[in-house]
Amino acid sequence: MRRAPTRSGWSGVRPKATSPSEPGGTAAAPPAAPRYDLPGTDAFSRVYWDAAAQGRLLLRRCRADGCGAAHHYPREFCPRCWSEDVEWEEASGRATLYTWSVVHRNDLPPFGERVPYVAAVVDLAEGPRMMTEVVDCPEADLRIGMPLRVRFRTGTGEGTAPAVPVFRPVFRPA
Ligand SMILES: [Zn+2]
Repeated sequence: MRRAPTRSGWSGVRPKATSPSEPGGTAAAPPAAPRYDLPGTDAFSRVYWDAAAQGRLLLRRCRADGCGAAHHYPREFCPRCWSEDVEWEEASGRATLYTWSVVHRNDLPPFGERVPYVAAVVDLAEGPRMMTEVVDCPEADLRIGMPLRVRFRTGTGEGTAPAVPVFRPVFRPA
């Protein structure tokens, strides 16, 4: 059975394997099951995760003259022109599939419980390319360039898992 969740996933502590001989370690904390799917958050990235919890995918867009580039993952500066005049923008949630890989084995908890899954790179309608996961699509139906739309996966029974943007196919209306 899974151990009761803690709040550490939202405290900015990156998950790591327990190490009984870690130097400087304080007292014997009970060994927690390591998890590798919880993002470390800080004051900057918190905006992104809070929006995700509301079902909104945020990008960063440069406001510098002559640039205007959008980027993802979020940074405090523009990776194209290095301007720090960058602001948050809500993405449309539309994307196309650039490439993917079906993962059949992952030894990092809790991903092993999720295999097989489709690790993917998608091109957001606004331009940036994003690492994500494609869901609700049989492997045989995956196609480069297929239209996708974001949805947000929330943890089930975990308590601490943030909403994570994943993508599902947009089917042609009948
Ligand atoms: Zn720029």
